[in-house]
Amino acid sequence: MRPEDKVIVALDVPTEKAALELVESLRDAVGMFKVGLELLHSEGPKIIHRIMEQGGRVFLDGKFLDIPNTVANVSRAITRHSVDAFNVHALGGLEMLKAALRAATEEAVECDIARPLVLGVTILTSIDELMLRQQLRIEYSIEEQVVHLASLCDKAGLDGVIASPREIRAIRQHVSARLIIVTPGVRPKWAVAHDQKRILTPYEAILNGASYLVVGRPITQPPECVGSPVDAARLVRDEVEEAFQKLEGEKC
Ligand code: C5P
Repeated sequence: MRPEDKVIVALDVPTEKAALELVESLRDAVGMFKVGLELLHSEGPKIIHRIMEQGGRVFLDGKFLDIPNTVANVSRAITRHSVDAFNVHALGGLEMLKAALRAATEEAVECDIARPLVLGVTILTSIDELMLRQQLRIEYSIEEQVVHLASLCDKAGLDGVIASPREIRAIRQHVSARLIIVTPGVRPKWAVAHDQKRILTPYEAILNGASYLVVGRPITQPPECVGSPVDAARLVRDEVEEAFQKLEGEKC
């Protein structure tokens, strides 16, 4: 896999025009595009097909959380769009997670298309320990809770999880090594953190064992000193490559 294939750009923009401009310029510099709730609800599902027509692969970040039957039905609908991946909240529980995977699998067979990767969201990277305890009244540490939710996703047979780069090592240590770990909350040293709380750099995230990095604002709204989104994507890619080299060196 090329280093740039590890980078998923979050298209957190409100219009098709803005999204397609980013796809056009970044298509060869990154591996996939993440369509989130803002873009999906502003432009409708046709945006998924426009991105694909331009040669972009799509991860639909729908973060579904509902009763199993409803999540199964939306998983079928999303699968029909031929996306590469979509996600559901692990907090929906085992039955819901299994229902999402089963529905995507059945629909893919019925439509004779590849099944999208089904990923489980653990704990949002904007949530910290204090919020977990005081607002959500969860008494476990973030790490314990993330590992628990990742185990649930593993048990349900999901392809992988979404987690902060800070919890990757714990997931790799305590949960099956087969899980794909997609990590937002990635910030190169030159970028601002914004609302992300549990962050690491792209280099650190790959060293920790991330399978894919989700990067939004650092690439789509890069600081002036970095240049264009393509310049920013190349810098992220270079960090991934540097981490690959370090990991290779450790193997020797
Ligand atoms: O701009 P930034 O790099 O912070 O964007 C991160 C993207 O990843 C956003 O689209 C956000 O919705 C998404 N995300 C996240 N934390 C999660 C799951 C998804 O930040 N746990």
